[in-house]
This record gives sequence, C-alpha cells and structure tokens, in this order.
Amino acid sequence: MIDEKVRSFEFGVRRDQFGVSSCSSYSEHRPKLLRIPLAKLKGKHTQMRVTFLGGVRTVTGSATLLEKGPLKWMVDCGMFQGSKEHEERNWNLQAYQAKDLSFILLTHAHIDHSGLIPKLLKDGFRGKVICTKATLDLCEVMLQDSGHIQETEAEWQNRKGKRAGKDEAIPLYTAEDAGKSLPHFQTVSYDETFQLTDGVKARFQDAGHILGSAIIEIWVEEADGERKIVFSGDLGNSDQPLIRDPSIVEQGDILWLESTYGNRLHKSREETVQELLKIVQEAIANQAKVVIPAFAVERTQDIIYTLGQFIRKGSIPPIPIYIDSPLAISTTEIFKRNSDCFDQETKDLLSGGQNPLDIPGIHYTQTTEDSKAINEAPGAGIIISASGMCDSGRIKHHLKHHLWREESHIIFIGYQAEGSIGRRIIDGAKTVKLFGEEIAVKAHIHTLGGFSAHADQKGLLDWVSHIHNPELQVFVNHGEEKVSLELSQLVSEQFHFKTTVPQWKEKRDLFGDEQEVIPEERVEEAIPPEESFSVLFKNLDRTYKRLRRKLKREKKKGESFYDPKRLKELEEVNKKLEELESEL
Ligand SMILES: [Zn+2]
Ligand SMILES: [Zn+2]
Repeated sequence: MIDEKVRSFEFGVRRDQFGVSSCSSYSEHRPKLLRIPLAKLKGKHTQMRVTFLGGVRTVTGSATLLEKGPLKWMVDCGMFQGSKEHEERNWNLQAYQAKDLSFILLTHAHIDHSGLIPKLLKDGFRGKVICTKATLDLCEVMLQDSGHIQETEAEWQNRKGKRAGKDEAIPLYTAEDAGKSLPHFQTVSYDETFQLTDGVKARFQDAGHILGSAIIEIWVEEADGERKIVFSGDLGNSDQPLIRDPSIVEQGDILWLESTYGNRLHKSREETVQELLKIVQEAIANQAKVVIPAFAVERTQDIIYTLGQFIRKGSIPPIPIYIDSPLAISTTEIFKRNSDCFDQETKDLLSGGQNPLDIPGIHYTQTTEDSKAINEAPGAGIIISASGMCDSGRIKHHLKHHLWREESHIIFIGYQAEGSIGRRIIDGAKTVKLFGEEIAVKAHIHTLGGFSAHADQKGLLDWVSHIHNPELQVFVNHGEEKVSLELSQLVSEQFHFKTTVPQWKEKRDLFGDEQEVIPEERVEEAIPPEESFSVLFKNLDRTYKRLRRKLKREKKKGESFYDPKRLKELEEVNKKLEELESEL
C-alpha cells in the first residue's frame, strides 16, 4: 500500500524544446507545460504485456517495453555496448515503437540505461523522460558526451572506410541530437508517488548505485485489484562513500532484479581501500604511475574521495592526481551541486567546511594538450581517466603509454563487459590493439571489486529478502547469461519465488492466469512482414523454374530419372505446397 500523497502527473513539452543552447540551466527552471494527449485506457483492466528489449542475458542496453491496452511506455532506454553483435542492435529499434510511447521511466543516467534516448527521439518519440533531478543533470553531460563519441567514431570509420571504398558511416546520434532530447526530461523527487494515467502510478526510491539512481515502483490496476511491479534498476553496493545505501522494498508482485555481480562476492570496502593504498605507496616508492580507467560518474568521485582520505590521514604525500576526462570534471561539479543526495557522513564533512572532492595535488585536465603533457611529467602520479571499459576516450592514450611499462600499475575498479578492451586486459591478454598498434601488457594489472557501484551476490540476496510475497515473480536481468541464470536459481532456492531469465525480444502477458510467453522466433513466424512474403514467393518461383529445367535435362538422359525415392520426395513437397495454397 502507498500511504504518501499521490500527485497527478502532467505531461508536457517545453515551447522552446529545440532551441536550448545551454543545457546546464535547464534543470534549474521548471519547464512550461503544454498538455499533450495521452492514450486513454479503455477500461482500466486491460491486460499488461511486456517485451524484454535489452539488458537481458547481457549487462548492456537495458530497456523494457510495457503495454497496457493502448498505453505503451518503457523503463530505461539503454545503449548496447561491448561486442559488435550487441552494438548492431542500437541501429534497429523498430521493436521500441518510438512513436507510440507515452513516456520513459529512467532509473539512472548510465549510458547502458539512457544512451538510446536521443536515437529514440530521432525515431519519433515525443513523450516524456521521467527521472530524478540528479539523473537529468548527469544526462545533460553524459548524453552529449555519448553523441560526441558517436560522431568521433563515425569520422574515424569514414577515414578508414574511404580508403577501403566502404559506404559512409553515420553516427547513431550527434551531440546536438542529445541536446535536443533534454527538454523532454521531467524530474520527480525520491519517495513521491505520482499518477501517470488512470490506473498507473509510480514512485522512485534511492537505489544507492550512482547519484540520482532509482529503484522504480509501478502500481497498475488490474481486474482483480492493484498489482505492483518493481524495477530494481542497478542496485548499489552498501557503504559506498558520498551516496546513500539502496532503499528497501517490502512489497511487490513482479520484480525485475539486476544481476551484474550475481555470482560474485566483493571484498570488503576496507580491504579494497587498503589494497589501493598499498599499490599507490609502491608506485610512489618506484616513482611510477598508476592508471585507473574509471567511469566518469561515481567511480571517479569515489576514487577522488578515497585518495583524499589517504592524504588527509597522511598515509601518502600529496602527489599529482590527474582527472583526465572532461566528462568526469563536469560530473564532479554536478556532484557538488546535488549534495542533497549525499549520505550523512559526507553531509557532515561538508558542514564541517571540508569538501571531500577537493584535495591538494588534484589537476583537472580539460584540453588534449594538457592530457598529453601528463605522460611527460616525471615521477609518481595517479591518472584517472575514462572510459571505464577502455573502449573510447583519453584512457586509451594513457594505456598506450603505460601498459608496456613494467613499473606502471593499471587498476580496474569497475565492471568490464565481454568484448571490451578492459575485459581482455584483465583476462590476461599478452597484447592489446590500441590506435592500430599492438601494445604489450607488462604493467601490474589489478582488479579492485570493492569499489564497485553494484551490489554483489550477497547484497542482491539481502535486498530481495525484504520482499514479503510468496507469490513474487522475479525476472533476473542486467547480467551476463550464466550469471543471471546462477542468481535466478539461487533466488528460487532460497526464497521459493518463481524466477525467470528472459530472452532478448521475448514477449509475455503479465498477471494472467497462465502467463503467455511468445518467444521472438514465434513472433516473427506469426506476423511475417509483407516484404518477406514477396521475397519468399520470388525464391519459390526461382526454385520451381530450376527444378523444371533439371527435370527436363534428366528426362533427356533416360530411365535413371524415374527414381522412386525422389518421386516420393517430390510428391511430399507437392502435397505441402497444395496445403499452403489452400491455407492462403
Ligand atoms: Zn548503472
Ligand atoms: Zn547498468
């Protein structure tokens, strides 16, 4: 039951939605609202249906399509990253039904949850993106950064492609497209219940994963009463500095549960902090550099906070710390602006006049020249740069400079998806290709799981244990296939909940007596597009003509043509074709 006051939600778009030049000011002003028509539910009790569009059997591309009669909405709209096969999915978004969506509920700003929003707008989405204020602030910089990365990659492909005579590569979306998506965002506060339309309510609670991250609860009215759907979003690791621990959810009928680290236990934070300290002290003693690929959001600020603690306590002298990622720099500013999302410990530090994100010896490098100069500076130093999985951004330059040096240290603190450069390095690759050059991996490679922004197996199970509903149904998502399957089994064994690891593009009816599952293959079989019919007929026609010609040739050769086995086969085919004809 929800006891809070329910506020009715007004959907609107800003009049100047395509004329925003500076995005940073957007969230400070309440957007002027124009009412937009929302699909009316004919009778509140229309069957709910779900389509799993991403973040299933993989950690990237989180997207879930929910339908209730004519009302369609999504929870998250993330970009697929990592392998080529996954990234190709970003180009084909028909299943997202962009034009028909009324809104997107966004759990948090990470690109694997928000990264396809600008593309969806290009595809005709005109609804609202609903999220917390900190998520909007972060999306302002992250989506534009993502657009910029898409443009740079397309440019690079084109330079290469021209020489190979390939077609022109176009970016998925540009930084400008990303900017245009921002006026579609509308913010809500944590713990506030709002009415989306008749029979559908929602509430965001702190997921303790990154600044502004949310668990989303949705209440829908069904024929036999109200039902509750919960999206865990990405769940945080307890005791992360700066932000609060994940909120507890006690009720629900259907749960989407993330499983990034569903098969692993992190070392304790204290142990991890000690490990980091030892690495940094060793690097200082050897006048070596420490390179930390870090996600610009949260991990970078977490490391700044921890290194600041070392210096404040005198465990290390103030050595140069380079934050070499324009995105990390803007993000750190956003953190400072959203101190209301901080945990008590950080609030206390702030009220005591200390800013945990300002430490002596810290250099923020904005320009490429400054970035290049870092590797020429002698002596010990710490370089924190993005992207966290080493596939793009300035980190690639730093790896090129340090991977081959035996004295350097590379520390991985975040999740490394399958297929990423970071994953290859931690999996023990002897060399990796960077900017077309094979670079030997000789540096000390460390992985520090305790800095993760995700709960580990124990954290996830603890969180689930608070839900008191023996009938709870759990969809395990946001994890690599084997990890999701393992967590799914554990949840089912420990709590006797019905658990499922859905397939990509699987459709299901929710809340029915018997939940109907329509796997993707069957969907395609059931409704073939028009063009596949005409292609099929053409092929059939060609095969028939080839067969006629062959028969003619065989007939000329004489008796051997009358093979009884072959005749039987042909009779079978003929029978099937006649059946098909009568069905059509
Ligand atoms: Zn995340
Ligand atoms: Zn995620």
